[in-house]
Amino acid sequence: MSLNIRGYAAQSATTPVAPHAFERRDPRADDVVVDILYCGVCHSDLHQARNEWGNSQFPMVPGHEIIGRVSSVGAGVSKFKVGDMVGVGCMVDSCQHCSSCAQGLEQYCLEGGATWTYNGIDRRDGLPTYGGYSERIVVSDKFVVNIPDGLDPKSAAPLLCAGITTYSPLRHWKIGKGSKVAVIGLGGLGHMGLKFAKALGADVTLFTRSAGKEEEARRLGAGHVVLSTDEAQMKAVANQFEFILDTVPNPHDLNPYLATLAVNGVHCLVGQLQPLDPPVSAGAVISGRHSIAGSGIGGIAETQEMLDFCAEHGISADIEMIDIQDINDAYERMLKSDVRYRFVIDIASLAKSA
Ligand code: NAP
Ligand code: ZN
Repeated sequence: MSLNIRGYAAQSATTPVAPHAFERRDPRADDVVVDILYCGVCHSDLHQARNEWGNSQFPMVPGHEIIGRVSSVGAGVSKFKVGDMVGVGCMVDSCQHCSSCAQGLEQYCLEGGATWTYNGIDRRDGLPTYGGYSERIVVSDKFVVNIPDGLDPKSAAPLLCAGITTYSPLRHWKIGKGSKVAVIGLGGLGHMGLKFAKALGADVTLFTRSAGKEEEARRLGAGHVVLSTDEAQMKAVANQFEFILDTVPNPHDLNPYLATLAVNGVHCLVGQLQPLDPPVSAGAVISGRHSIAGSGIGGIAETQEMLDFCAEHGISADIEMIDIQDINDAYERMLKSDVRYRFVIDIASLAKSA
């Protein structure tokens, strides 16, 4: 027997995301079954639904910012019980024994990589994984996190990807009181980057291409806003930042940003997966002992730590709720940087497509 599931899927890179019925496995002993309430819309969903990373498998049910209630648990599960409010992020499994997994860095699993929540292959049964644009998901208990009571479940959904992807590098590079940090791009990741950097005590600057985001950026935690298309404004912040969190989703010129790093400064990519283009000037890295780094989501224990940090500091995402029928419009708006600052799908709207 298997579970029949209603969801939304892309059938190819060029067709819209549309209603799709599919099956999920019967719960295993270590599985948690989650009735999905809300699912955030990440730019990665759009990249993959349109095969922009060249590795898409179809049909694809996107969605890796999942919030729901536990509706049943396997015989071996003790950490969760029916009725718990839980989250599922970008991963649903990993090997659990390589050196990355042993350090709680499951996202860097060395045995074939983590099993991604969608557009992945389940490492135990070899079947495709399907994400959160759907009514229910079946996940190993090790990849389920608790949503603390203090968090609103709707605005907590984006924390499962946008939240952890920005929190993890800020922690890794020890951002704290007095750090001078810049965030590039005010979208889903960027707005969480501003909030976390501010909560950690940093003096935060936003680099944006969009004139008109200044007031909002200040509300979200930026002390300063720099229009990255304005050369004079870029010059005015030369040699300043110890850490830049770069959330830009497409190839873009890093060189002007490298000039704004302080000595020993780090430019950390989280947005772009493609080769750097145009080329980075080696001189701009050598001069000032700069580093170009990258970071991928965060491990499960750190994801729980981030959620607890959010509950403690009153942090959550700024969201715009949508029905699942509006997902293709939401993608178009995201491409125009017209999202304030994360779309979250109300999964109850799936019933309207019945
Ligand atoms: P988003 O909501 O669309 O935000 C991206 C922002 O970047 C835009 O709002 C815009 O901000 C700026 N931007 C867009 N195109 C740009 C360009 N060509 N040049 C300069 N700035 C540009 O996207 P998101 O959901 O935050 O995701 C951002 C990227 O992170 C995506 O590529 C996604 O796949 C990736 N991602 C990576 C990880 C990871 O683990 N590393 C995890 C999640 C997502 P302004 O209007 O302020 O300029
Ligand atoms: Zn994501």
